[in-house]
Amino acid sequence: MEILVVGSVALDSVETPHGNVDDAIGGAATFFSASACYFSKVNLVGVVGEDYPMDKINYLRDKKVDFSGLQIAKGQTFRWKGRYLDDMNQRETIYTHLNVFAEFRPHIPESYRNTPYVFLANIAPELQLDVLNQVKQPKFIGLDTMNFWIEGSNAALRKVLERIDVFMINDSEARQLSGRSNLLKAAEEIFKMGPKIIVIKKGEHGAALITKDHHFIAPAMPLAHVCDPTGAGDTFAGGFMGYITQTQDLSFENLKRAMIYGSVMASFCVQDFSLNALKNLTNEQIFTRVMDFKKLTHFSEK
Ligand code: AMP
Repeated sequence: MEILVVGSVALDSVETPHGNVDDAIGGAATFFSASACYFSKVNLVGVVGEDYPMDKINYLRDKKVDFSGLQIAKGQTFRWKGRYLDDMNQRETIYTHLNVFAEFRPHIPESYRNTPYVFLANIAPELQLDVLNQVKQPKFIGLDTMNFWIEGSNAALRKVLERIDVFMINDSEARQLSGRSNLLKAAEEIFKMGPKIIVIKKGEHGAALITKDHHFIAPAMPLAHVCDPTGAGDTFAGGFMGYITQTQDLSFENLKRAMIYGSVMASFCVQDFSLNALKNLTNEQIFTRVMDFKKLTHFSEK
């Protein structure tokens, strides 16, 4: 089974207490693909400039990532720079240079239009709507967004929310969008906007899966050394959506498993800069960490 992702493909510069990288491979669609490809074929739609070092992502072609929807435009690639403070939970954006991303209009190639699973990574809600108008009756649609769009493109975001299945959002954004500080109340408000499933990401405190009838909490893997949290949310989304695409099972029990696969992939991501820790994983390593999660959370009542 295949999944379509539309989002940023970027060059990231990151400063952390453990070191720096400049113009490293990044972007929401890139992290998503590097994670989801362990579970399913990925059809990527995005844009880069002529300066993009394609040789650094070519390895993803061997992992079933299709780049025929990646436009190469005249100009410079989207660049983002962030800095993490000592506890690694707080990030400040130093710059966002949209470059070719400013004029990006997603074009979904004919060969992608029947992709049954779709993930709309964090881009302008107007462009997310444009993607939904080009695909043909997908089975399951996931959505990410950020504070910038909640403030600046609220009406368009609400239109997208009416058309999607799972909304992946972080805790502060859920509070901002709903106007409610309690996360369960926030979820109640967001359900009224359309999504059937909400995943609230809470960084190192894990993520909550909420439907109208059930709740589930997945912790984040406790790690003694976190190198760089950039892309963890997109990598989580890649594991979650990739696992659902592979298993084609939308039962709550399976969504719980998808939450664990998302957490497992995010835990690898943060152990190195850029895509480095996601590059050479084996299915056995992934499964071993799934079992570590099981040990971490399982208890008997007596
Ligand atoms: P995350 O750490 O999951 O929030 O994702 C970080 C990734 O998002 C980085 O690789 C950035 O290149 C990318 N990014 C940062 N700002 C934006 C933006 N405004 N639009 C799209 N992607 C962005």
